[in-house]
Amino acid sequence: MRTPKVALLGMILESNRFARPAGEDDFRSLTWLEGDELLAEARATTPSLASEFAAFVHAMDVTGPWQPVPCTLAASHPAGPVERRVFEMVRGEIIDRLRRDGPFDAVYICNHGAMVAEHSHDPDGDLMAAVRTVVGPEPIIVTTLDLHANVSFKMVEACDLIVGYRTNPHVDMMERGEEAAFSLRRCLFDDKRPQIALKRPPIVPSSVTLLTAEAPYGELIDFGQRRQAELGGAVLNVSVFGNFVFADTPDNGLSVVVTAREDQVIAESLASEIADRAWSIREKFLRTLTPVDEAVRLATEPKRAPVIFSDAGDNPGGGGSGRTTELLAALHSAGARNVYFGSFFDPDLAAEAHQIGAGASFTAVFNRNAGSAVWEKWDHRFEVPAKVLSLHDGNVVGERGMTKGRKLHLGPCAALDLGGVRAVVISDRAQTADPVFFHMLGLDVGGAQCVVVKSRGHFRAGFDKWFESEQVHEIDTAGLTSPVLERWPFKFIPRPSFPLDPDTVWKDRSHN
Ligand SMILES: [Zn+2]
Repeated sequence: MRTPKVALLGMILESNRFARPAGEDDFRSLTWLEGDELLAEARATTPSLASEFAAFVHAMDVTGPWQPVPCTLAASHPAGPVERRVFEMVRGEIIDRLRRDGPFDAVYICNHGAMVAEHSHDPDGDLMAAVRTVVGPEPIIVTTLDLHANVSFKMVEACDLIVGYRTNPHVDMMERGEEAAFSLRRCLFDDKRPQIALKRPPIVPSSVTLLTAEAPYGELIDFGQRRQAELGGAVLNVSVFGNFVFADTPDNGLSVVVTAREDQVIAESLASEIADRAWSIREKFLRTLTPVDEAVRLATEPKRAPVIFSDAGDNPGGGGSGRTTELLAALHSAGARNVYFGSFFDPDLAAEAHQIGAGASFTAVFNRNAGSAVWEKWDHRFEVPAKVLSLHDGNVVGERGMTKGRKLHLGPCAALDLGGVRAVVISDRAQTADPVFFHMLGLDVGGAQCVVVKSRGHFRAGFDKWFESEQVHEIDTAGLTSPVLERWPFKFIPRPSFPLDPDTVWKDRSHN
């Protein structure tokens, strides 16, 4: 067989409909790589780009000759809908390159799958369809997506193979990138065309019910893997996507995507079987959070085991601003002791701490510019006497969980002593899913009685060394990622959907 020529590209954004739009800077400051630079970064020892992309390239490198054609990979932290101009710029770069350097044997698309644009509910699908139009019907298009993708029929139509993460917290991105490469090799080798089926029961789970270590979601994913194994080589991949509810699109909802080796009937039938099972256990996709006053009571209770709190309403990993002060202020005013709070996105405060230096005392003003246009209504100003404990430039490598071994650029960082609470301040709006956020500043996670993280679920894989699941509490704080769905003015999510509409009936199974 001749050396396969494979185009590499992607645009990664998880859009929270209620957050501020993602502009060019949001991508440029995280990942915007083209051509040789993109390929070199993917092959670096500790790549800064999406792990599945690097793993795909590595797996292709070690499984035989290939001719990679790196186009563009652009990625932003989760934010609001992408600006139309920015989406079109990235798509334009990709399409130009594909036009110039084709024909191809295959295309690898590395997207998140829950992107929204100012002008479109489904820019992921738009990009994939545009790629298909340019490369033509022959090349195999293989795509990796985040577990929180909102999978559309447009995406399924454009792609030949879709591989979704199977873990939440996401710790299998590298395996999924490798899987995509191995499956692609197999398809190219035996010249068979994979077939995809998509089934979407009307369930719109909240993010807090989508942990894969437990039922119902973990059980559903395991069931899919078991059925795939039982079918031998007939099925290439089974992915059960949980959806990202805050994207608020007509494609929201739990989705089952099955890619069969070559038989569409097998794909359809297995996807239906898993979707039926999801529907039968839908009542389990409900969860109650811990109220803020109960969290304060827990944190101030003497002689208890250490606890970790998720500031669930403000998870930058879901588009949260990273600067709500509700829980910080409540714990501080209650006099809670030995609390580590991470991480607060406040570049002004971090810069001031660097300016006055470690050991200096001052009045820390969190959110000093609160109230101007880009601030969310929950981002309150908070003034408190503080001492600068330690400083860091924010260039670190992840220690545990989702970002283990990955370079992080958090900008100037500081640890502030606010009395009983020690707060980590960062200059990049990132979720605190990794203990490195504390450790880089000399705060030993194992020494805290209460750790609070601005992360909704991914911190579990980073902090499980210190906290068993019964020591983890999801706090019902206000903010852009509050998982209490009834509070949100969703406009585009298909209705009725469970649990937003408790009496939902799944009527039209053939079209879902
Ligand atoms: Zn995700």
